[in-house]
Amino acid sequence: MKARLQVMKFGGTSVGDASCIARTAKIIIDAAKECRCVAVVSAMSGVTNRLIEAAKQAQAGKGTEAAKLLDALREQHESALSALISKEPDRVQVGKKLGEVFAEGHRLCEGTALLRELTPRTLDAISSLGERLSAPLVAAAIREGGAASEAIEATELIATDAFHGGAEPQMELTRQKSEARLRPLLEKGILPVVTGFIGATAEGQLTTLGRGGSDFSATILGAALDANEVIIWTDVDGVLTADPRLVPDARTIPEISYREAAELAYFGAKVLHPKTLNPVVQAAIPVWIRNSFAPERPGTKITPGGRSIGGGVKALTAIRDVTLISVGGPGIVGLPDVVGRTFSTTAEVRASVLLISQSSSQNDICFIVSTADAQRTVEALRKEFAQDVAHHNVEHITMDPNIAIVAVVGENMRGIPGVAGKTFSALGREGVNLIAIAQGSSESNISFVIEEKAVKAALNTTHREFELGNTSA
Ligand code: ADP
Ligand code: ASP
Ligand code: MG
Repeated sequence: MKARLQVMKFGGTSVGDASCIARTAKIIIDAAKECRCVAVVSAMSGVTNRLIEAAKQAQAGKGTEAAKLLDALREQHESALSALISKEPDRVQVGKKLGEVFAEGHRLCEGTALLRELTPRTLDAISSLGERLSAPLVAAAIREGGAASEAIEATELIATDAFHGGAEPQMELTRQKSEARLRPLLEKGILPVVTGFIGATAEGQLTTLGRGGSDFSATILGAALDANEVIIWTDVDGVLTADPRLVPDARTIPEISYREAAELAYFGAKVLHPKTLNPVVQAAIPVWIRNSFAPERPGTKITPGGRSIGGGVKALTAIRDVTLISVGGPGIVGLPDVVGRTFSTTAEVRASVLLISQSSSQNDICFIVSTADAQRTVEALRKEFAQDVAHHNVEHITMDPNIAIVAVVGENMRGIPGVAGKTFSALGREGVNLIAIAQGSSESNISFVIEEKAVKAALNTTHREFELGNTSA
């Protein structure tokens, strides 16, 4: 029988500075006394943003600015290294590794500045440097704490397609590579510390899994290694009933289902990358969200069925960087294929559609895409419907970026009448104007579109209405 295995992921704040890294190392060392562990780490917090900024400066031809950003990051990592590691040989060896990664960063930025061109592939190579720096630091901190540990780059483990900036894992190959590389280490009692966020194509080209993708790395490895559980260590106590930065009364949910957690993640709850649960659903591997700053707290357990609560509504979330696109005019009633053409166009430009709403008279089709995809979607639609606009069948193709989606999530809502009514009357009392409404056929989510500036009021009033701040769950 294989020994119990845990995959643990530590986010940016959990490795944010030397003292956070030391706390993280202690969590890993303590867990390894009970079972086998694989750690997955993000870049130190803020580092990925600064690397992307360096890449953009280089693209604008500002090579010196990019180099300055890299030098500041180097100082930050080197000072963490000297604060963490007292043993001279390890400090020298890890320092050398950091130096190599920075040298690569400088070469990448110089090349970009020279060409003034930043391809998605180069952006991946630059933005992934942060994880390649944090993993050796965490592994060294574990060794400093007396346990054997080795940093591993996930290019050796996670096989993906070539979609740079949002690559999809290829699980079979990932399983083979991870078993071959990690199992022997685990058997020797060596703790692997793997770079989150990163994968590689079958040809060995580095890819990234998308911003916030280290959560996804952890569940990919959890599934690949048949782990008993995946623990995502972060800076909050678990999955909360709403984003605590917007709703001060938000409360930790003890247990939640895969579907509920996935809906929350999909609609913007930053605590989980939207794809996090995909790899573990089939094998029903439980995922925990826990606070690395308060490891004594139990956290949230994400399981196939969750645990039902009386009122049905479990949590709220909001997504703000989105744009409402509307295609319409009285003339579209006579155009039977307008829906089909609209969504083939969004598919062609690879815009992912977050919500769709159509008025019953079919005068208007509204849908929402992320703001980053909006401009190219509208341009493609204007091209597609150019003839219809000329003949006044389609009267407008417009976009509104000043909106947000709020989602009310809970699997048990389906059995409980009046959730929508209660939500909308609370919003009405608060004076929040509803632009569009959608309820998924799963009935585990009611989403509505409001003006962006009303998000805080909408979340807080709905949170109160469903008494989510109460501890009665
Ligand atoms: P990490 O760096 O550990 O990956 P993130 O910043 O990506 O952490 O995600 C954690 C943050 O997600 C929390 O600090 C919190 O502000 C935010 N968040 C948004 N919605 C929720 C929610 N429903 N529950 C918990 N945290 C949430
Ligand atoms: N460092 C990456 C990011 O900032 C991945 C992660 O933190 O999950 O997006
Ligand atoms: Mg995150």
